[in-house]
Amino acid sequence: MSDLTDLYQAVILDHNKRPRNRGKLPVANRVASGDNPTCGDNCTVYLRLDGDRIAEICFEGAGCAISQASASLMTTQIKGRTVAEAEALFNAFKEIVTTGKAPDEISDLAAFAGVHAFPARIKCATLGWHAALDALRQPPSS
Ligand code: ZN
Repeated sequence: MSDLTDLYQAVILDHNKRPRNRGKLPVANRVASGDNPTCGDNCTVYLRLDGDRIAEICFEGAGCAISQASASLMTTQIKGRTVAEAEALFNAFKEIVTTGKAPDEISDLAAFAGVHAFPARIKCATLGWHAALDALRQPPSS
């Protein structure tokens, strides 16, 4: 089990050190921001929705390692997915971070299972996801 914990920590550390899809997306047609004042995290998600599919996604933000690593991982998980698939992934992720129980199929999302032991950090872990879902629910901005 400790090997698995190490692996999961490695995923979070890696995303924190080398965030994926970080920056502004000039061709974005949906943008939303969120913040988590109790921890000082913020996150803005830019995405380009092509029909029902998330063609491109980027994020910007600052804050704790959990919030930034989670936003980075989120972009890699929902890029190329449909809105419904992104919502289903967010529900699965929320389940993981609130219960600590990961599905049988191990995915990088399970790296955040340990967050459930620290309820205050659940908002850190879901910040980027909330911003992405808010962006998906917006009318087109361009
Ligand atoms: Zn935080």
